[in-house]
Amino acid sequence: MTTHKLLLLPGDGIGPEVMAEVKRLIDWLNAQGIAKFETETGLVGGCSYDADKVAITDKTVALAKAADAIILGAVGGPKWDPVPFDVRPEAGLLRLRKDLELFANLRPAICYPALADSSSLKREIVEGLDLMIVRELTGGVYFGEPKEITDLGNGQKRAVDTQVYETYEIERIARVAFELARKRRNKVTSMEKRNVMKSGLLWNEVVTRVHANEYKDVELEHQLADSGGMQLVRRPKQFDVIVTDNLFGDVLSDIAAMLTGSLGMLPSASLGAVDAKTGKRSALYEPVHGSAPDIAGKGLANPVAMLTSFGMALRYSFDMGKLADSIDKAIANVLDQGIRTGDIKSEGSKVVSTTQMGEAILKEIQKLHA
Ligand code: NAD
Repeated sequence: MTTHKLLLLPGDGIGPEVMAEVKRLIDWLNAQGIAKFETETGLVGGCSYDADKVAITDKTVALAKAADAIILGAVGGPKWDPVPFDVRPEAGLLRLRKDLELFANLRPAICYPALADSSSLKREIVEGLDLMIVRELTGGVYFGEPKEITDLGNGQKRAVDTQVYETYEIERIARVAFELARKRRNKVTSMEKRNVMKSGLLWNEVVTRVHANEYKDVELEHQLADSGGMQLVRRPKQFDVIVTDNLFGDVLSDIAAMLTGSLGMLPSASLGAVDAKTGKRSALYEPVHGSAPDIAGKGLANPVAMLTSFGMALRYSFDMGKLADSIDKAIANVLDQGIRTGDIKSEGSKVVSTTQMGEAILKEIQKLHA
């Protein structure tokens, strides 16, 4: 059995609490011989600043590069508001994304039937929803140059951000989306604004070409990003994989996230390119939520997003889709039993702590593997 190297970066706030539930699962998988994970633990974010005065050390970045996958909790909190900008907790996360060239951000939005009533949309619109947003993460308007504010000297200022994409950046993110679709329901929707943006025109052209040359078996449709946003709240179940740029992806993935209820339920993955020699790709898995300082240290955090982030690592880094399916099924079973953390409680549910939720999910996984 292959040994997989994991770097665990629990981070700040509720990060260590939810990471403990992933560790519990990893220990069980190892003990049962279902998988073989070797784990190391490192510091990132505020805790790294406290220890070393930087948001992540070179040594931890080297560990991240050597790992088969990185599992990250969350970073940040008001304690570190006064620290200098370039060593703020988020800088650790940005450095990891940059140094490992994690250009593809995958955000699934799944609505468990038991939670359909916690969505702001009607049950029939969201029940059973299962879509994936693939957001380009290292290019576009957040990074394009020039990026500046100029004082025009007449009491006015001029702010410029530059939206810029090159062919290879669109090709590689399109391929991620098509590959994913092949493992799902075989449909990709590409979103841009080709009606008003040159980068949208190129995006559309390149995605269409990659599709025609390499992925004809996958269904491809194009939607303008604004109308795509409208469709996301109108009829979200029409989508399987949505691929879009950094800016639109930022907005659309937050909209999709809210279709499903709590932040505590949402995982994500950030992937780099596949190394031609080893066939491996850099990958970082983390919940969408932050460090939740308001509930940190109280045992109130929902560990589901962290556990399903680990599930994404099983699926996308280790080809253990069946095991990831059993985590999803175990979570659905626990929710069906009315066992909930406070953020997703509803009438008649049994409210439990982070640890109890993790234990309940592990118990269901054990039943599925009995
Ligand atoms: P947040 O996601 O930490 O919390 C928002 C709200 O959701 C809070 O009320 C919190 O209690 C709740 N919540 C979040 N995760 C939960 C969970 N697992 N279970 C139950 N409830 C949960 O966002 P915020 O409050 O805007 O940010 C707090 C800190 O986290 C800030 O320092 C911010 O910069 C940082 N942050 C980090 C990341 C990251 O590490 N990727 C992402 C977002 C925010």
